[in-house]
Amino acid sequence: MAYVLYVLSLLLGLVIGSFVNVVIYRLPRRESLVRPGSHCPNCDAPVRWFDNIPVASWLILRGKCRACRDRISVRYLLVESITAAAFVLAMWRFGFAWQLLVAWAFITAMVAIAFIDYDHMLIPNKIVLPGALLGLVASIAINPQRWWVYLAGSAGAAAFMFMLVMIWPGGMGPGDIKMALFMGAVLGAYVIVALFAAFLLGSVAGLYLMVVQKRSRKTRVPFGPYLALGAVLAVFVGESILRWYTGTWS
Ligand SMILES: [Zn+2]
Repeated sequence: MAYVLYVLSLLLGLVIGSFVNVVIYRLPRRESLVRPGSHCPNCDAPVRWFDNIPVASWLILRGKCRACRDRISVRYLLVESITAAAFVLAMWRFGFAWQLLVAWAFITAMVAIAFIDYDHMLIPNKIVLPGALLGLVASIAINPQRWWVYLAGSAGAAAFMFMLVMIWPGGMGPGDIKMALFMGAVLGAYVIVALFAAFLLGSVAGLYLMVVQKRSRKTRVPFGPYLALGAVLAVFVGESILRWYTGTWS
């Protein structure tokens, strides 16, 4: 019986992932998320429903627009697959519970932010501010005895990022501070794991860019994708890592 829940999570993840593609493209361009329907960015031909099936349509059309044969970025496929895989993992991690809904919504937001920041060096207020508020309300509703953990996690993470922005102005921006507010509201104490993972991944990638690709140290690199990746990791393994860490050191 359990496999039905996994199949449903997969299908829902694909559909939501398809919507995330729309958000990634349209939100930074201030376009409506619902109208008009999907169309080819090259020739403007409307995408018909049977060419708009997550993952499958991209594969059947071999990544080309049916009308103009222009390439459709493999990113569409990637965003749908990542979202679907994370949705299935969340079902495995939380089972059918309120926490699952929070995790799904949070993952959706993180995937959208990662790609929007990568493309535009921008973390949209329209996602992180309502996200922080709703995240806090949902976390406290699910776990009322530990309300202060989410408040402290949210405020603490934002204060930490604010400090970094002050010390190192070129590195991060106000979007990263608001993103940390959102992450802490949902992750509570596990935001520590998320931030640690983000800085670790960011440093490795930064070294790679400098040493292998010979980019200058001044090249601005968006930090949102690392924060998002750290946050999703923390959803799944934050608890075990924090427990392992405190167990080792206490
Ligand atoms: Zn086209």
